[in-house]
Amino acid sequence: MQPAVFLDRDGVLNIEAGYIHKVEDLHLIPGVAQAVRKLNDQQIFCCLVSNQSGPARGYYPVSHVEALHERLCQLLDQAAGAKLDALYYCPYLSEAEGGTNPEFTRYTTWRKPNTGMLVAAAWEQDLDLRNSFMVGDKATDVDMAHNAGCTGILVQTGYGESVLNGEYQHHTKPDFVAENLAVAVEWILPKL
Ligand SMILES: [Mg+2]
Repeated sequence: MQPAVFLDRDGVLNIEAGYIHKVEDLHLIPGVAQAVRKLNDQQIFCCLVSNQSGPARGYYPVSHVEALHERLCQLLDQAAGAKLDALYYCPYLSEAEGGTNPEFTRYTTWRKPNTGMLVAAAWEQDLDLRNSFMVGDKATDVDMAHNAGCTGILVQTGYGESVLNGEYQHHTKPDFVAENLAVAVEWILPKL
């Protein structure tokens, strides 16, 4: 078993822009590709874990989420030769939360702050969750990390600052607050 660094997508890797309907509107936060590359260079498993309810809300098909991830990987590669070792996302949403497309409207343990994506990744990639880190910009990212026994880091990019101000979601207790992913990675590296 190896440790991993789990990364949220919107507000951590790419600029938070709500539901991204056009692939060209996905842009990296400055410095993130270099930060991911540092993890790559240390052979640390980097894994995307992202709630993507667009398909359940009927905004766009799963193929569009895949296209966004293709662009994300391209941008990471172009900027710093960085790569994600695996990508997990949850396209499902319960009806109570706003799901409308029957194909993707259901409760699922994969949706953060539930731990399904982390558990699936751990099972499929042989990862040690107790010694892994989750970097996110929402309280639900930190909650998922703790629900799975991972260390939870909140970045101040994306919704992070609003979470800290008490203006978004709910209070949470991250193990570390980082200005951005680059700072988070510097904090993580000596612990791995
Ligand atoms: Mg996010």
